[in-house]
Amino acid sequence: MKTVLMVAEKPSLAQSIAKILSNGQMNSRKGSNGACSVHEYRGVFPPTRENVFYKMTSVCGHVFGLDFMGKYNNWDRVDPVELFSAPTSKKEATEKLKMPAFLSKEARGADYVVLWLDCDKEGENICFEVLDCIENSMNRGTGQTVYRSKFSAITDRDIKEAMNKLVSPNKNESLSVDARQEMDLRIGCAFTRFQTKFFQGKYGDLDSTLISYGPCQTPTLGFCVDRHDKIQSFKPEPYWVIHVQVAHPGGRVINLDWDRVRIFDKEVAQMFVNMIKGVDSARVLKVVQEEKFKSRPIALNTVEMLRTASSGLGMGPQHTMQIAERLYTQGYISYPRTETTHYPENFDLRGTLKQQQSNSLWGSIVSDLLNTGIQKPKKGSDVGDHPPITPMRPATEAELGHDPWRLYDFITRHFIATLSRDMKYLQTTVYMEIGAEKFTCTGKVVLDPGFTTVLTWKSADEETLPEFKKDQNLTINEVKLVDRQTSPPDYLTESELITLMEKHGIGTDASIPVHINNICERNYVSIIGGRKLKPTALGIVLVHGYQKIDAELVLPTMRSALEKQLNLIAGGKANYEEVLHHGISIFCLKFKYFVESIPGMDELFEVTFSPLAASGKPLSRCGKCRRFMKFVQAKPSRLHCSNCDETFSLPQNGNIKLYKEIKCPLDDFELVLWTTGVRGKSFPLCPYCFNNPPFKDMRKNNGCNECTHPSCQHSLSQNGVSECVECENGVLVLDPTSSPKWRMACNKCNVVLHFFENAHRVSVGEDTCDDCGSHIVNVDFSKGKTPLADGNTEHSGCVFCDNVFKPMVEKHHAVMKRRGGRGRGRGGRGRGRGRGRGKPKDKMAALAAYFV
Ligand SMILES: [Zn+2]
Ligand SMILES: [Zn+2]
Ligand SMILES: [Zn+2]
Ligand SMILES: [Zn+2]
Ligand SMILES: [Zn+2]
Repeated sequence: MKTVLMVAEKPSLAQSIAKILSNGQMNSRKGSNGACSVHEYRGVFPPTRENVFYKMTSVCGHVFGLDFMGKYNNWDRVDPVELFSAPTSKKEATEKLKMPAFLSKEARGADYVVLWLDCDKEGENICFEVLDCIENSMNRGTGQTVYRSKFSAITDRDIKEAMNKLVSPNKNESLSVDARQEMDLRIGCAFTRFQTKFFQGKYGDLDSTLISYGPCQTPTLGFCVDRHDKIQSFKPEPYWVIHVQVAHPGGRVINLDWDRVRIFDKEVAQMFVNMIKGVDSARVLKVVQEEKFKSRPIALNTVEMLRTASSGLGMGPQHTMQIAERLYTQGYISYPRTETTHYPENFDLRGTLKQQQSNSLWGSIVSDLLNTGIQKPKKGSDVGDHPPITPMRPATEAELGHDPWRLYDFITRHFIATLSRDMKYLQTTVYMEIGAEKFTCTGKVVLDPGFTTVLTWKSADEETLPEFKKDQNLTINEVKLVDRQTSPPDYLTESELITLMEKHGIGTDASIPVHINNICERNYVSIIGGRKLKPTALGIVLVHGYQKIDAELVLPTMRSALEKQLNLIAGGKANYEEVLHHGISIFCLKFKYFVESIPGMDELFEVTFSPLAASGKPLSRCGKCRRFMKFVQAKPSRLHCSNCDETFSLPQNGNIKLYKEIKCPLDDFELVLWTTGVRGKSFPLCPYCFNNPPFKDMRKNNGCNECTHPSCQHSLSQNGVSECVECENGVLVLDPTSSPKWRMACNKCNVVLHFFENAHRVSVGEDTCDDCGSHIVNVDFSKGKTPLADGNTEHSGCVFCDNVFKPMVEKHHAVMKRRGGRGRGRGGRGRGRGRGRGKPKDKMAALAAYFV
């Protein structure tokens, strides 16, 4: 019997599709990578009418991602302009999923493959990623063996119909995605590396680890700065309004609206007031009553959900997406990434609605609706990806928790609203005349609240009016001229930003939250009250800088022009190589021009930020000139020697302190201590070695706990105790600074072991434990507090095996995988660890000659 392998985009989709196609008669098992399942059943394969064995599984989004190769990932070794031509390769998007291996294994012996990836360009691209992984392990058949299904919803009818009308995957659509990925990578990396290195090496109070450029991210920031500029350049303009009050015979006082609304010339406005002042009554010209509707909403898509969550619930897009995805995986709502606002034809609206009948908040509204009949939903657009976002099963606040519940509440109310009646109200407009000037007053009475009973925040403010009759005369209580000023616009709200991004085609439902999050995290904008986005000094100066050099770098038009080109590839109307080459060469020219013109941008930075030499406070001494280097605390924290004009990067996300003025024996730089707090990790490091590792096989950005130099007193060679209990290559290193709460920490992973609470000295000895290979630890306890028998203060032994020590070691990680033998890793010990070796004479020279 032949085998048909089928692959969907997400594990949950594979399950629902398999369930439909097998009519629920499938066997499921977990896949070898732990993340995906395989659903198996027998059936007829429509294209060949053979009886076959079906295996349905999935990927988890993209299998591969694009990256540069080898040295091109190194910021220090490559001129960013080379990135426009540097070789790239596809790498596994998420290594730990082992997706290619999993797919290849499941494809072994398969005769046909059916690709059930989402029906958008990304999905088409993933089709070819999947084919790359499985082609070599499938059976070689004659004729067509690769099929693509086209579906727009996960319903019985759609899925079964797609299975009967299989087509071939579309290479052109996939290529258009490849082209976009490659352009984004090259352009983004080249600009980001260049400007980050340029500005970070110059300014100390520039608070950002990465001054990034992105073809979507930068225009997103551009929108926020554009609004900021409008606010800054705004000049309020005075205008005048005539304020009139009339007395209704029933006793109410009514304010009237002037037909001319406002006048910007005071003398003209005054003239109108003078004309009216002589008249003693207002005459009703006509009373018009109209029935009006406020339309129920169309079905919910991602962008609208993000907008409302931000403006109505105060939840940011990234946070909202995370919650929505959790609600989806738990089965409470349908797939939350969709552009579609139209329910598929045979979507079970009534069934979905019925589930909400028991809810204490809207259950009665739902019952009413089911009794009186649901409305046909308003026609939205069907993009063919997923159905709109809808509740899938009932829930309570207690089971969901606060924020997930608020989102679920909104999604459900919105769903109910789409099936409810429109809101109907009666609008009354009374037209009046005072002399030659016309005025009106308006009232509003709700006739049928319709969907607003469930979307309560959309309900109308009622405004009742007393009865007016044609030709009725009303006494004028007051006429006055009121002066006002035009008011400046406010900062963009997140919701407005999402609208702008959608309108200009910046990002997709999936990437909009990411772009917004990026500009916040990189400190280009900050979120102020009402979820408004206020650009920071850095954000403003960046956008103004681009505008000064090449405005196209920040305009959304660049992105849409690019999208058009990509669509030509997708439609088979343009050659992939040509479009790619053309796009990249344009940006390469722009990049070269940008580099040449950077002084123009730098002028703006000079005004806003202070030079590196003027920032920071003195901390540790430079090993070359012996002067104090300045510690720059703004992100990314650095050390800067203004005498040697050198900058040294430091580990981030912790505190930096001076470490007892101890010098690195290799280069004379004073060590500093990096620490994340009392219970956290800490290690000493040499600022020079951290940036220039003394050994070729030592990675950059390591502290002394990784240093294997035999003459380093504070290093792994001196303080290494044993192999890490958790990770592969880590070594547990005594933290010599941790007194009195002594601890050792892995130099690779997060393992921290606390021991010997009351010891005043702990050191690591030369000898090793016969049982486990750990180094013997010598401990000197304080008198009076010693836990040792007979008041002894000194004891030596293995922290893991010695019966005296064992109870004094706190085991943060329960399982101790003791392998023993390997000591302190990579030739750490032994070699020349003699006492009394001399200090190297000229350390900098010795270092240069000896290591690099
Ligand atoms: Zn110096
Ligand atoms: Zn050093
Ligand atoms: Zn060292
Ligand atoms: Zn470890
Ligand atoms: Zn031992």
